Amino acid sequence: MAIDADRTLLLDWYRRVRRDMPWRRTRDPYRIWISEIMLQQTRVDQAMPYYERFVARFPDAASLARADLDDVLRLWEGLGYYSRARNMHKAARQIVGQHGGRFPDTYDEVIGLQGIGPYTAAAIMSIAYDEPWPVVDGNVIRVISRLFGIGEDVRLTSTQKRIAGHAAELLDRTQPGDFNQAMMELGATVCTPASPSCPSCPFQLRCHAHRNGATGTYPYKSPAKKRPHHHIAVGVLTDREGRMLIARRPDDAMLGGLWEFPGGKQETGEELPETVRRELREELGVDVEVDRTPFRIVRHAYSHFTITMHAFHARMNDGSRPPSAQNGEPIRWVVSDDLVNYAFPKANRKITETLMGSGQ
Ligand code: SF4
Repeated sequence: MAIDADRTLLLDWYRRVRRDMPWRRTRDPYRIWISEIMLQQTRVDQAMPYYERFVARFPDAASLARADLDDVLRLWEGLGYYSRARNMHKAARQIVGQHGGRFPDTYDEVIGLQGIGPYTAAAIMSIAYDEPWPVVDGNVIRVISRLFGIGEDVRLTSTQKRIAGHAAELLDRTQPGDFNQAMMELGATVCTPASPSCPSCPFQLRCHAHRNGATGTYPYKSPAKKRPHHHIAVGVLTDREGRMLIARRPDDAMLGGLWEFPGGKQETGEELPETVRRELREELGVDVEVDRTPFRIVRHAYSHFTITMHAFHARMNDGSRPPSAQNGEPIRWVVSDDLVNYAFPKANRKITETLMGSGQ
């Protein structure tokens, strides 16, 4: 195989067609890091405005380290996978505390930062510093499995190792940043999952899948397990002044640090209003009266399960103790106009929109 020729073809193609993106106009490792973290689970067009707002508000690690986690999460709201934002906040504090505010420039130091794994470390090292670390993301896995006709299950570590070996072999060690971005760009724009545009691909003459008319065969991924579905009931507990109670989720929980209406999972044989009464008793030590029917129902899919969230209006019964979070996390009474100032998970945000008069 003429690897040198393949590299040249790929890099020439990339320089001709690459899409302009704000993080491609910089070599600042901080900005490249932000963009890589955002792009991990998010499409480019969706990430772009978030990236612009984020770097305008936090232009360097020092400003991010100084920020309140609440402000970081508020800016992240809507992007999902909130552990990314919490980890970035911690990593910024590491950069200030352990590296004097300067973004580290060795692989070992970079991978030592909170939330940075081998993929992100390789992307930062190659793009910001032109160090020869190959990147392997979902796009690269697709391109390489088609290029080399790798038919094993790409969910297996052994297959991923084999693909990483090919990525390392292919890497242009003199221009690793551009090469890695070219491979990812090829997967994102040409070697797409459903119908790759092989006639415009720089690898078309040597690609195993294309030459054998088998692009639909690669990559092979074993079927995912069916996601469980849960019914969640939450109570919008309102006091005499019309303020509503919101509670902050623990940092180490899923969606940690975000605010929500208290509630939880319906148990077998339980009516939904009873779920709200039980959850509020357990979480806040209060005795509440709950409407019989929800005022809003929201469906939402997470990566490992799906939910239907039923939101009920609730009031404290006379003689109830005042609410106090049993897990020690903060709770707040807020007026509806103030809900916009707190970061909520998506399903809860739809409920706040209904409460503020702008939701369906
Ligand atoms: S020739 Fe087609 S299948 Fe092969 S790498 Fe290019 S776009 Fe993908």
